[in-house]
Amino acid sequence: MSSPPAQAPHAPQTDKSPSSPSKSSNFLRQIIEQDLQAGTYSQRTWAGTPGDAQHHAQSPLDPARIRTRFPPEPNGYLHVGHAKSICLNFGLARDYGGICHLRFDDTNPEKEDAEYVNSIVDAVRWLGFEWNGAPDATAYQASDYFDFMYRAAEYLIESGHAYVDEQSAEDMRANRGDFNTPGKDSPFRSRSTQDNLQRFRDMRAGLLPDGAAVLRAKISMSSPNINLRDPAIYRIKHARHHNTGDTWCIYPMYTFAHPIEDALEHITHSICTLEFEDQRPFYDWLMARLIEGQLISSPPPRQYEFARLNLTYVITSKRKLAQLVQEQRVQGWDDPRMPTIVGLRRRGYTPQSILAFAERIGVTKDYAWIDYSTLEGCLREDLDPQAPRAMAVLDPLPLVITNWDELMGAGALDPCSAPVHPHLPELGKRQFMFGSRLWIERGDYEESPPKGFFRMFPGNKVRLKYGHVVECTGALKNAQGNITEVQARLIPDTKSGTPGSDSVKVKGVITWVSADDGIEAEVRLYDRLFSDPQPDAGGKDFLASLNPTSLKVVHALVEPGLAQAKAAQHFQFERHGYFVADRVDHSSERLVFNLAVGLKDNWAK
Ligand code: ATP
Ligand code: MG
Repeated sequence: MSSPPAQAPHAPQTDKSPSSPSKSSNFLRQIIEQDLQAGTYSQRTWAGTPGDAQHHAQSPLDPARIRTRFPPEPNGYLHVGHAKSICLNFGLARDYGGICHLRFDDTNPEKEDAEYVNSIVDAVRWLGFEWNGAPDATAYQASDYFDFMYRAAEYLIESGHAYVDEQSAEDMRANRGDFNTPGKDSPFRSRSTQDNLQRFRDMRAGLLPDGAAVLRAKISMSSPNINLRDPAIYRIKHARHHNTGDTWCIYPMYTFAHPIEDALEHITHSICTLEFEDQRPFYDWLMARLIEGQLISSPPPRQYEFARLNLTYVITSKRKLAQLVQEQRVQGWDDPRMPTIVGLRRRGYTPQSILAFAERIGVTKDYAWIDYSTLEGCLREDLDPQAPRAMAVLDPLPLVITNWDELMGAGALDPCSAPVHPHLPELGKRQFMFGSRLWIERGDYEESPPKGFFRMFPGNKVRLKYGHVVECTGALKNAQGNITEVQARLIPDTKSGTPGSDSVKVKGVITWVSADDGIEAEVRLYDRLFSDPQPDAGGKDFLASLNPTSLKVVHALVEPGLAQAKAAQHFQFERHGYFVADRVDHSSERLVFNLAVGLKDNWAK
């Protein structure tokens, strides 16, 4: 997100988005463009910090043309669905000369944790965004608005728009009615303003136990929208809050708190997922009441809904992800199989690949499942043009060149080279040795080859990539009948890059590493965590479809240049896929690579 443009606030704009001509439009962009054109928010002021109507009243015009926000509850690690929301909110602000707020929705006292707060800040920053209009700005916290929320609640009581209900929870539920039946008024609904105020102050003073009373908005018990049947807006909860300590024993409900947070921050477009569509009438009702009371500025923020991200083979419920961690089904929140942002990052996903994914899937109002391969495709497209290449043998089988000593001399090594990247000659060459003892993939040898198999089998010639052509002569086996060594003869004058080297035609080219300079590495081969494309749809037990082979650790041999690999650096292991040196465990003493994504989509049927 960029800081506000250097032009005068609200200068007329004709082009919609100079910074992103390739962005495809969507319904949210259209709404924003209409608002900008109509000047819906052009008279808004901004005091530099969030606050009530009075706080903002004497301030200059807001330099931000729009304000959006990303409001996570700090009760877990962010996942790929949140990444969509981050890219959307920060992306819109950036594209339209606006500012996106990072706000911790910490109105619920018991669940929050500093560990989560830090991880959320890191995740947003890693994706490349700045919040609240300045580099390194502190995030906003909804709990800083508790005083105002309390004042707003008293205002609703005083203006006849709220009452303290002391029905039991069961009565309240029964009297709410349902889709077919209108609700019934609570016997407490007609209390006097004075009684209500006194009772609410009693709640605040801690005179009532948890659950003994709630403050409800007084709207209508017969509204067809059940969310308008006098929703609860404050509840009693004798609990310590991480920010406000023991100051409060009553806490606002989400439906009441959220619109107020938006209003105090002068948000223009409050974008949320479709589950909140039925809450919008209450959002608008509350904003209208608080504007009548001159508590918040006008025009108020407006809520818009989009369909949340559903990704195949992935679960995005924080609660279920927490269960995977707690039950040690995975190795932590940042396990590379987790769809958390920390997990994706450790797996080898780049910020660019996630931004491209968010752009590709777009925003709609229709629920749909996005295929996991779309996310993988975005990573492949980001890495292919830039990742250095390397050879690695993941399932090593020795190959002995039986005529090496005779042709080259005992112990001789033949230096070979290959481009770091086939399309980026400026990255130079990698160097490695060819010798009498090499490693090849076990799967590249067949004693009796199936039809169409062109790699190693007795009597066949293959090229060892960047090296020589060899002719396979057979293999040795152990007592159990397992192949322990493949043997081949070098064909002279076939070294890659030398004149006439391709006079011997071969159909197979295989990768290899020399036993003389190859180095050991731990390679973690990840697969999908679930084998069911919709692991938790329709209340299914998602643990039942955990993929038992989602992690396979192999002891690989890799070309010598990888000794210099830095943690979090990406490579394409030729013929295998894209790998990343593990952020946590990789070091120059212990090479550890994670499979980020295969070369091709193996899942598309
Ligand atoms: P929980 O899983 O605890 O219900 P949540 O996923 O709603 O929580 P929040 O921290 O409340 O998590 O979410 C912050 C923001 O991320 C919200 O604006 C929410 O709409 C958005 N968000 C959450 N999940 C998705 C998703 N799958 N797709 C798109 N946006 C999402
Ligand atoms: Mg939520």
